[in-house]
Parts: sequence; structure tokens; C-alpha cells
Amino acid sequence: MLVNDVRLVVFDLDGTLVDSMGAFADQAAKLMSIHYGMDYKTGYSKYVQTSGLPFRQQLDFLFPRDSRNDLVARRFEAWKLEVIDDTSFRPGVEDMFDGLHGLGVRIAISSNNLQQNVDYISQKFPRQVDTVLGFRGNGFHKGMPHFSWLADNLQCRRSELVFVGDSLNDCHIALRCKVPFVAFPTTFSLEEFLNVDPDVAHVDPITGIVDWVRERRSSAPTHQIPTIDADLQIAGAKDFRYS
Ligand SMILES: [Mg+2]
Repeated sequence: MLVNDVRLVVFDLDGTLVDSMGAFADQAAKLMSIHYGMDYKTGYSKYVQTSGLPFRQQLDFLFPRDSRNDLVARRFEAWKLEVIDDTSFRPGVEDMFDGLHGLGVRIAISSNNLQQNVDYISQKFPRQVDTVLGFRGNGFHKGMPHFSWLADNLQCRRSELVFVGDSLNDCHIALRCKVPFVAFPTTFSLEEFLNVDPDVAHVDPITGIVDWVRERRSSAPTHQIPTIDADLQIAGAKDFRYS
């Protein structure tokens, strides 16, 4: 998709900013083994393949109308709370945030992890991350509800934001919502992303997004380059922080 200008970078959280997918898949596979009798390897693979959705929706997809889904989802969310303090951001994330702000670009997180979890984890970067959106139920989730909220509240067009994610579902969501997407091929290979979108952009490591934005900025016509002072943007952006 053509990128006009980048005024907002929207990061997925799990698997993208934080290296949590291995632990999540491990726990999900254990729960699927205990509660559904699925062998561990298959459960692990099915969790990864359906990642990018709220866990309850993953279960509803994998085990349609199964009465055990509610309990298993609650156990999974309870486990996530137990280990939430073990969450660590990928190396270089803080410099990456500073680099984007230096380009006058705002930063948001859009995740289908629960809102309270995303708020808690992102507290590590209260200055750098302008807006934190998680799954709140009632139809507010990653995808059009988040992108529309961001466009309305941060006064940018959807074509001026870039969504960065690690899952094929992220790629599908961006295509559906007509939002520019940059893949971070770590949970899935670049080849798997290219099967979803033959024109998909990608960065690896994640910190490459700063140069990716800078390159597009330098090739854009002069009149498209934003002139808003980055410090003013950061100060103003705190007004839009959800938490
Ligand atoms: Mg992810």
C-alpha cells in the first residue's frame, strides 16, 4: 500500500515490542493439553497460527461452541497476570521510540491483550508512548475500532499511520482496514507474510522502523513533511493517553 507520510506508528505489543510469544504459546499449549486433550506440539502451533486475536476468540475459533472455552480463557488470563512482571521489551526499543519522536512521529500501542495488561506493561515508557489501546470487550479491539479511535483522537488520516506487527492476523487486519503495514517477521517468516500480501513491507530487527520512516520521509515531496515541533507533539500527545 502507498504510504503518503507517516505521522503515527502503531505497534502491536506481544511478539512485536515484547518477546512474549514463546511463553504465551507454551502456556496455551499446556492448557489445551490439560483441558482438551490436544497434544502439546499441535496446541503450540495452533496458538501461534491464530495469534493476534484475543485468546478467547482463538479458543472459539479452535474449539467452536466448546463450553470449556470460558474457563480456559480465564486460566490463561490469570497466568498472564502472574508473569506480567517478567515482561521485557526488546533491545533498543527505547532508542527506537526516541528516534521516531525525533522525526516528529507519534507512537501508539494497539493490542488484543487486555487493556489493563497493556497499560501496566507500557508504564515502562510513560514519556515515549503517546497512546495505549488494548482489548476492552464491547467491540473495542485491534483493527478498525482502534484505528478509527486513533485517527479521530490524534487527528491523522488512516493513510498517515503505519501499523507494525508480528502476526499474519495483523497483516490481514491492516489489509482489511486499508492501513499501511510493516511486518516484523519473527513469529512468522517473511515468506508467510508475502503469501498474505505480496507487497508487504518489513523490518528486522524491529528498531529498523526508524530508518524505514526516515527513508519515506526523505523521498516525500517537501510539502508533505510535517513541521510540528517534536517536543510540542510529545507534550500534547499526553492529553490523548488513555490510561
Ligand atoms: Mg503480536
